[in-house]
Amino acid sequence: MKKIIAMFLTAVLCMTVLAGCGNDAQKTSQNKEVLIVGTNAEFPPFEYVGDDGQPDGFDIALIKAIGEKMGKEVQVENMEFDSLVASIGSKIDLAIAGMTVDPDRAKSVDFSDNYYEAVQYVIVPIDSEIATIADLENKTIGAQLGTTGMFKAEDIAGTTVTTYNKAVDAVNDLINGRVDAVIIDKNPAEVFVSKFPDDVKAIDGAQFEFEPEYYAIACPKDSELVKEVNKALAEVKEDGTFDALVAEYIGEE
Ligand code: GLN
Repeated sequence: MKKIIAMFLTAVLCMTVLAGCGNDAQKTSQNKEVLIVGTNAEFPPFEYVGDDGQPDGFDIALIKAIGEKMGKEVQVENMEFDSLVASIGSKIDLAIAGMTVDPDRAKSVDFSDNYYEAVQYVIVPIDSEIATIADLENKTIGAQLGTTGMFKAEDIAGTTVTTYNKAVDAVNDLINGRVDAVIIDKNPAEVFVSKFPDDVKAIDGAQFEFEPEYYAIACPKDSELVKEVNKALAEVKEDGTFDALVAEYIGEE
């Protein structure tokens, strides 16, 4: 009889422990729901690989602040820029990558509200006389694969466009004379030029009639996520976090 009671008590104890585990596991997944965010950490100051080997930069800090408002833990996946849009809804939940709102991309993703205004810049050798769009015709232009800089380069008459997965490789090829110019967003252009000030200079895209572009977070199409992201983005702007991050990572505005 004692044996049976002992077995019964052991069974009850096991069930209690297991049930407890179950509850804890549920709580963990509820309380810390993970948001997997894709980026391409080759685009300073918005995203780059930090000293600890992890993605860092304005966008990374922004999406972590947004995740906090949403009550979700952000996990950043570093991948090629060109594969971000296609990975949303499968490998990643969202993408933040200094990504310009563009009608083609908007066919497969929903963009959040804009969070930054940018424009394409043209990086040229320090002694180059390139100054207008006509000067870029029939030239070899470097750009990061799948970016608006690449699209702009392709639109100029007679160009040969050389593409790179890492923007810095395009700048290195400019310094080595393999390309005549690089088209890339303003802030990364300024960062790259500041690394090689004796070799290259950056020209404002307004001189080339490039229109302003707007960065937004890419979300799955027709999902609730874009609404949640917009709400959190508005809160991050409202409470001063956004401006503090601009000051910390970009240092203007
Ligand atoms: N803003 C550009 C685009 O959306 C470049 C982004 C990037 O290289 N990370 O295409």
